[in-house]
Amino acid sequence: MASNNNLMTGVVRTAIITGGGIGGLTAALCLHHFGWHARILERADTLEEVGAGIQISPNGMRVFQALGLAEKVVVAGFLPQAAEMCDGQTGEIMFSTPLGSAATHRWGAPYVHIHRADLLAILADAVAERMPEAIQTSVTVTGYGQNKNRAWAVTGNDKVHGDIVIGADGIHSTIHAQMLSDDKARFTGHAAWRMVVPVERLKGRTPPPNATVWTGKGRHAVTYLLRGGRLANLVGVVECSDWTEESWSARGTQAQALDDFAGWDPIITRMTEQADAHYRWAIFDRRPPPAWHDGRAVLLGDACHPMSPFMAQGAVMAVEDGYILARMLAENPNSDAAFTAYTRRRRDRVARVINTARDNARLFHQKSAIERGPLRMASRAAPSFTARQLDWLYGHDVTKVGAA
Ligand SMILES: Cc1cc2nc3c(=O)[nH]c(=O)nc-3n(C[C@H](O)[C@H](O)[C@H](O)COP(=O)(O)OP(=O)(O)OC[C@H]3O[C@@H](n4cnc5c(N)ncnc54)[C@H](O)[C@@H]3O)c2cc1C
Repeated sequence: MASNNNLMTGVVRTAIITGGGIGGLTAALCLHHFGWHARILERADTLEEVGAGIQISPNGMRVFQALGLAEKVVVAGFLPQAAEMCDGQTGEIMFSTPLGSAATHRWGAPYVHIHRADLLAILADAVAERMPEAIQTSVTVTGYGQNKNRAWAVTGNDKVHGDIVIGADGIHSTIHAQMLSDDKARFTGHAAWRMVVPVERLKGRTPPPNATVWTGKGRHAVTYLLRGGRLANLVGVVECSDWTEESWSARGTQAQALDDFAGWDPIITRMTEQADAHYRWAIFDRRPPPAWHDGRAVLLGDACHPMSPFMAQGAVMAVEDGYILARMLAENPNSDAAFTAYTRRRRDRVARVINTARDNARLFHQKSAIERGPLRMASRAAPSFTARQLDWLYGHDVTKVGAA
């Protein structure tokens, strides 16, 4: 345990966390690390994640290192050799940045690809081991309340009391809606296909063992491997202006997905043909609100700052949030002061990631090779150019005392 205000005062404080996703579970573990107790209220009957992969960059792995879980994440996942960008139709590589051991060397922790269900299981098992009975499923939180000394989550006719309430209930957060009713998430004009395919079905069309961004006009795809290389993950993003909640179905068809990437590299086509399910996702983001808390209630992860996935940082930012929030609570007995310090440390960094992700949409969807020329030339002239561009993000260690 890094520091323990609660044991110093002899009082164990309790956080009520709404939402048992990656953000909520990690926050619970971080709070425990700093001497708090957590209760997690999850709406679903079982803790579950979409059947898709996720990239955890070194700045997120730093938190898992501090929680003693990094080894498990690495063993369950896949370590990509490089981050690369190539043309979606010709496969021509525009730049490649080494990852693998180079990531650990440069940024102090590995870059990992992992199946979301595997990551969630690692986090949930750790919570169950460290705080038995902390997770309650089939509980829908409908709001929060507070007085001078306590806060509570409202669950139908009941209230679950603690010292603070943390809204980690995702993009359509109930806690956010009560706290900041006018601050709605914005549809970015992108929809994402998500597919996972056993590599044995791909017969010579396995994607490279890298984090590969395939670029094209008005669309891009991302491929990578999971579970020691036995599964391949595909995210395919297309620009679309006609999304409405009513017309959106989370499950699309193989024909639609093939049509969206017609004429693309055979790796993309083969993966689309061989996937059992073709999930479609609307992409939203939101500028981080000026205040992230209201008295004893505070927001974290997508509940606060959903972002487009073009930096692969939404979950990683939720993980960083959890660590800083817990550290600020350990350093400040007054929750209001802790939340103010937490927001101050998080807001600019998260805003920069959101803006960079928006810029990436433009970069990945540029119409011609000429528009991407400057990036290609810079990477060829100085191979470490792209790695240097990522130092502020991947090299940041929230577990270091004094780090923002
Ligand atoms: C296509 C795509 C690819 C992505 N790739 C990456 C990537 O590679 N790397 C990365 O870091 N991020 C990535 N992201 C972003 C990432 O998925 C999210 O940022 C992350 O899942 C947010 O975690 P969270 O815990 O804040 O919210 P969620 O994962 O949404 O969890 C919220 C939880 O709260 C529960 N809940 C909701 N309402 C209630 C309620 N009223 N009461 C009780 N429980 C409730 C939900 O059931 C859920 O379990 C990607 C996103 C997309 C769309």
